[in-house]
Amino acid sequence: MTVTDTGQPTSGGPATPLPLLLLGRDADPASERGVECPGDLPAASDPDLVERARRAREALGDRAFVLGHHYQRDEVIQFADVTGDSFKLAKDAAARPEAEFIVFCGVHFMAESADILTGDHQQVVLPDLAAGCSMADMARPLQVDDAWTRLGDAGVAESTVPITYMNSSADIKAFCGRHGGAVCTSSNARQALDWAFEHGEKVLFLPDQHLGRNTAVLQLGLSLDDCLVVDPHKPDFGVTDDELRAARVLLWKGHCSVHGRFSLESVADVRERIPDVNVLVHPECKNEVVTSADHVGSTEYIIKTLAEAPAGSAWAIGTELNLVKRLANEHPDKTVVFLDKTVCFCSTMNRIDLPHLVWALENLAEGRVVNRIEVDDDTEHWARVALDRMLALPGTGAVKS
Ligand code: SF4
Repeated sequence: MTVTDTGQPTSGGPATPLPLLLLGRDADPASERGVECPGDLPAASDPDLVERARRAREALGDRAFVLGHHYQRDEVIQFADVTGDSFKLAKDAAARPEAEFIVFCGVHFMAESADILTGDHQQVVLPDLAAGCSMADMARPLQVDDAWTRLGDAGVAESTVPITYMNSSADIKAFCGRHGGAVCTSSNARQALDWAFEHGEKVLFLPDQHLGRNTAVLQLGLSLDDCLVVDPHKPDFGVTDDELRAARVLLWKGHCSVHGRFSLESVADVRERIPDVNVLVHPECKNEVVTSADHVGSTEYIIKTLAEAPAGSAWAIGTELNLVKRLANEHPDKTVVFLDKTVCFCSTMNRIDLPHLVWALENLAEGRVVNRIEVDDDTEHWARVALDRMLALPGTGAVKS
């Protein structure tokens, strides 16, 4: 076992550097971790913020295209030209080649995907560079390289196909591209796993263990015992060679800090409080939560299900709170509540607020490109290979760029 300078044990291979950077403190621009937003931000109390955003947006016209992820605050969403989940937004950006600037109101890995899928003449801007994703941060390139070496030592790397969830850094997508794997979304994870099992005997699923387990067990019919958690913080990744050889799906030990909070107690409690409630959750929730829910699906599925639900029906939604609040406002004829009792925003997604959006738009309107997200050529090439394999899956759809 090796111990890094941060005290994290790793496998017998080289130490995996894992610098601890606090959100908004210090800088590691090559990573998903918190880095400072440069420049003078308008004060949040500025009463002219909405008017300033409107003026800057108008000045930019068709030169800019503003994307708003479903989990963004309403104050930001009001300026989005389109809303959607990360994959839909990346596809929307690719379909707008005339837009010089793609202003991505989301998190870092989403802006990277937009940069990969858009043309070289387009520049992607993230209004706050500290808008990262705790799940994406849980799979670091050197950790994943070490894990692949571990699989090789156990004699299973050759028969393993890596699949990464869209919610991962460009580096991890590129890793999958280089090693014969693909990207998936929460909507096509089943097709991605089917494809992977046509090309290998095992899958390494990154970085969300819950989406991987829920897809393998609930959609492919594998058992919980077919799944094995690979923990980058344990010696030898917490697994024996025999366990690696026996497992079908190797689940990277990562999770979403928002969806991972929902519990069986949350479900039992809401069923007691609201008779006949329909529990609708995202597949990033834990397996026991998903199996106790009535419906499970991506954010796009959640939005569609609510839109089609009959008036008078009651829904408890297990996903990010900004989206649940918006759905409650959009469907006053239905009861729409948050599944948990405690507030559950995505804190990194919420870094993008109106002052940051105004700051980014005004700079762009004045000819200064700020907070550009740019993926290097080699990473972009291999990440695009993994994304293209996903786009070739049935029903996923092509992307223009
Ligand atoms: S909701 Fe979860 S997966 Fe999505 S950006 Fe936030 S931490 Fe990442």
